[in-house]
Amino acid sequence: MDRIYLDYAATTPVAPKVIEAMLPYFTDHFGNPSSAHFYGQQAEEALHNARNRMLKLFNGSGYEVIFTSGGSESDNLAVRGLAFAERDKRGASQILVSSVEHHAVSETSRQLQQQFGFESRKLRVDKYGFVDLDFLEESLSKDVALVSIIFANNEIGTFNDMKTIAMICHQKGIPLHTDAVQAAAHWGVDLQEIQVDLFTVGAHKFYGPKGVGALIKRKEINMAPQITGGAQENHSRAGTENVPYISGMVKALECLRENLDAENDRLTKMRDLLINGVVSNVRGASLTGHPQMRLPNHASFVIEGINGNNLMIALDMAGFAVSSGSACKVGNPKPSEVLLALGLDPDLALGSLRVSLGKTTTQADIDKLIAILPALVDRLRNGTVK
Ligand SMILES: *Cc1c(COP(=O)(O)O)cnc(C)c1O
Repeated sequence: MDRIYLDYAATTPVAPKVIEAMLPYFTDHFGNPSSAHFYGQQAEEALHNARNRMLKLFNGSGYEVIFTSGGSESDNLAVRGLAFAERDKRGASQILVSSVEHHAVSETSRQLQQQFGFESRKLRVDKYGFVDLDFLEESLSKDVALVSIIFANNEIGTFNDMKTIAMICHQKGIPLHTDAVQAAAHWGVDLQEIQVDLFTVGAHKFYGPKGVGALIKRKEINMAPQITGGAQENHSRAGTENVPYISGMVKALECLRENLDAENDRLTKMRDLLINGVVSNVRGASLTGHPQMRLPNHASFVIEGINGNNLMIALDMAGFAVSSGSACKVGNPKPSEVLLALGLDPDLALGSLRVSLGKTTTQADIDKLIAILPALVDRLRNGTVK
């Protein structure tokens, strides 16, 4: 059977050039960057080089890079590390997060409330998933330790106006973190322009390896480290750095940037044809997230009268890999909190479908999906496919 992968928002294959860039650091240049001898110096040089290239890619003068094990760890370090540091510094104990965060942020702030005495507050979003800016402004008191707002949403594709959000937070002197794991996979974000204080990146969403990411942080912001031990990463994250994966991540970003605009145009065209095709051919299907202000590769829907997990399985049997809501929720029959935050009915929210496109996607793939979907949905509704 021909298989078609349409789940690039869950993960991407590692680009061949990235593998090539990583290989020397497993073998010839295997040293520990903290060792003072020749082997260590070679590894330290690679690390230093990767850090500078990373900062250049995001126009991050005034910022520093903390390499981590991925998007989830960067989110944890930002939210947890800032919460503890700000409470120590000025007694602030509220954490404001949007109601459409990735679990790496929402569960972290939940735990900080349940076990560490913080108060976690949710910021309202509108029906597209945009954070309500007036509500944000009203919620910013001096008791707020930090704000964390997702840049581009992994479930519904919508992206927030981070520049304005940063301005609002800074007027009240509150530090802002953004989870930019999806955003950084599609845009050349300029930190001088958007001015957020902490910025999460994860490599496996942009053709880099799994298990590596970065937190890019304004230099003057203090965080309590969450992994303690050695002095690596400027005392922000102990542990010997993963030099091969870090080198691969930076290479992946550079490759991505080479062809960004043309690739985004190509993806956007296919995305819009897919959205139109599904909404006009599948009975009871509607788009979730904003129609234009969304990731170029991202189409997400809710479909009346079906269960999204069953649809995902049926599509898998037909050779299409898609997702229902978020990859982290497989086997979980509860509707996604993100979809509920948009104001969707819980039953309808169970019928979610996410199709995300990437490098190997062609218009023919999209046409095939649109051709098969209406009948498959009807069969699921009538109970003729389980
Ligand atoms: C994938 C993803 C994460 C988690 O990143 P990992 O590297 O898989 O830990 C966090 N936030 C968003 C928006 C994501 O898409």
